[in-house]
Amino acid sequence: SVGGKLELHSASQPRIDIENCKGCNICVKHCRHDAIHLDASHKAEIDYGKCVGCGQCVALCQYDGAVMGEGDTSERLNYKIAEYSKAVLLGKPNFHISFIMNVSPECDCWNHNDAAIIPDLGMAASFDPVALDKACADMVTKAPILETGNRLSDSPHHDHLEGCDKFNLMHPETNWQAGLEHAEKIGLGTQEYELITV
Ligand code: SF4
Ligand code: SF4
Repeated sequence: SVGGKLELHSASQPRIDIENCKGCNICVKHCRHDAIHLDASHKAEIDYGKCVGCGQCVALCQYDGAVMGEGDTSERLNYKIAEYSKAVLLGKPNFHISFIMNVSPECDCWNHNDAAIIPDLGMAASFDPVALDKACADMVTKAPILETGNRLSDSPHHDHLEGCDKFNLMHPETNWQAGLEHAEKIGLGTQEYELITV
């Protein structure tokens, strides 16, 4: 749900980037907790005594004026993705399919992106979502870099990037493995897999 996705992304109360805030008032109108107001210079200001960290203002702000607070980490987001997945699957029959296509530098929820970094690798499927994610990540690691003008092919060292963790190269501050380790810990699946090519 939208509420679940917001909660998943909001591990902490947001902050206001004064430079970016245009004073459009959208966040003020939509905060259900009356926790955000415009100050005398028409910049948003959060009352942290009232803010519950729901992330609504971050989701609605079109100017990057309301942004996630410093307490958010990629590890924490990955833990929550694993936990939400477990909640969705609990007690239900499930099977998982991944399309390893158009592997681009940013998440597909962003409004901008760059060209794909590797050739399309096809589809992978498994009853185990953790094994599937691990297998897909390993395949991306092993794949060569596309030569067609993307963020990695423009790197002066791109000849040596085959076999490198490309996600970490593009986002050194993130730790995607944390999500798989947590998923394994809470019993969502295993990182062990056998790849069968058909
Ligand atoms: S933080 Fe964003 S939504 Fe809120 S007033 Fe500033 S620009 Fe508008
Ligand atoms: S995170 Fe939620 S409660 Fe806090 S200021 Fe933004 S909209 Fe209001």
